[in-house]
Amino acid sequence: MEPSRNPVIIGAGPAGLTAALDLVRRGVTPRLYEATGAVGGLASTRTQGDWRVDPGGHRFFTRSEEILQLWDSLLPPDQWLTVRRDSAMLVDGHYVRYPLVGRDLLTQLGIGRGLYGLSSLLRSRARGGLRGADHSASFREWGVREFGRYWYNLFFDGYVRKTWLADPGNLTSDWADQRIKPIGWHVRSDPPSAAQDSFRYPRLGPGQLWDAAAVALSDAGVIPALNSQVTRARSDGRSWILDLQNGESASADAVFSSMPLRLLVETLEPHPPAHIRAVAAALKHRALITVAVALPKRYDIPYHWVYTPGERFHSGRIQNYGRWSAELAPPDWKGTYLGLEYFTLPDEELWLADDERLAAIVEQDLRALGLSPEVEHIMCVRSRYAYPISDPARDKSVALIRDWLRTHHPTLHPIGRNGMHRYDNQDHAMLSALHSVARYFGEDVDPWQVNTDRGFHEYGLLKR
Ligand SMILES: Cc1cc2nc3c(=O)[nH]c(=O)nc-3n(C[C@H](O)[C@H](O)[C@H](O)COP(=O)(O)OP(=O)(O)OC[C@H]3O[C@@H](n4cnc5c(N)ncnc54)[C@H](O)[C@@H]3O)c2cc1C
Repeated sequence: MEPSRNPVIIGAGPAGLTAALDLVRRGVTPRLYEATGAVGGLASTRTQGDWRVDPGGHRFFTRSEEILQLWDSLLPPDQWLTVRRDSAMLVDGHYVRYPLVGRDLLTQLGIGRGLYGLSSLLRSRARGGLRGADHSASFREWGVREFGRYWYNLFFDGYVRKTWLADPGNLTSDWADQRIKPIGWHVRSDPPSAAQDSFRYPRLGPGQLWDAAAVALSDAGVIPALNSQVTRARSDGRSWILDLQNGESASADAVFSSMPLRLLVETLEPHPPAHIRAVAAALKHRALITVAVALPKRYDIPYHWVYTPGERFHSGRIQNYGRWSAELAPPDWKGTYLGLEYFTLPDEELWLADDERLAAIVEQDLRALGLSPEVEHIMCVRSRYAYPISDPARDKSVALIRDWLRTHHPTLHPIGRNGMHRYDNQDHAMLSALHSVARYFGEDVDPWQVNTDRGFHEYGLLKR
């Protein structure tokens, strides 16, 4: 035991829970404060009766053995499903497999359009020469070079406008190599086998893992305090006092924070200097509304999720939950259970829309999909801090804040996706927490080095 240490963790999402588990493993009992009424953060499973909603469609995959072991330690093998990735883009009424496959591109939209797309790609490549990826390029420039202008316009331009809520010419492309797989030109006609292109998924959605983490913590005497939003973090240079919205306060020798970095800076007392507060105030997020709808009729949609780049759809992506796990719906459910994702900004009309207005938008989208809008159950999940918006200027701001915090508050550890204002998946959010705990114990590791590799995320994944 380490009785002299009394750290506090802000947020019981994947990063906060991972930090807590690791502290417990090292003999320290942390306190964990969570603003909402549930653990799991963005990766929680929301429930209404027997209906479960995964707000984002969370695939579990990683290159880290440490993370894989942690996942395995929390859920037994029979609670994990191995799900083959089958996704598609819905373009002009055609489902085109995604990641894009060369032979589909040449045939699925008609051979004429296929050859036109190929010649457009060859032209772009010829213009780009043998240059490697240019990370100072805009997303549009990157996309045209990677896919050719025709296929870029068809598949990516509208989708990125809809989901990133920005002109692709004004977006940077640094994230694109990690997230967008190049066209596969393999000659084989079959889709890749399950072992090649699969991910793990807890039977009851992503939150099942994080609920299990909370149970493991409570077995060790650490019970996350729910509905306990941290509103102020005061430091005297040696120790911390955190004030909670419910009027309570907590003292600590160190703080691990997964709350949005911008809000953390606002919360600090004494206040950071004006230039740090100004760059923090400019950090923004995109929001996401997921509307889960249960349609009594069964439709055979042979994909786990479908991207909908076209203007006919308000939603940017549609999850087909029945393919992720049958247990997201009540037992014996025979209909179709979908999750429509709407990307928005917190000051936009859509974010402010009530459930009734959202239901009307969903109805239009179901019709555009060619499905009957008759709905048996509907549930809206709003994620205010879904995507930290990043670009080179904001990356510089984050680095400035990081360096200022390190110098002035070495016992304050920002962790996780919003805590570090980075577009991290669960495994990277967890790794940043593990590295921060190691740093707290004096190890020479840098949590900010997690997820700085530009390679495609899904090459070299560990499978078991
Ligand atoms: C649409 C979408 C799809 C995704 N798909 C995948 C995927 O396929 N695979 C994958 O691995 N990852 C995916 N992710 C990413 C994954 O959800 C995140 O990486 C992960 O949830 C980050 O964990 P975190 O703990 O850093 O942050 P969060 O999950 O945001 O948790 C932070 C927690 O802190 C709490 N909090 C905030 N402020 C305070 C405060 N002041 N006081 C107390 N508590 C506070 C919040 O309520 C929250 O519970 C996806 C995310 C989205 C939005």
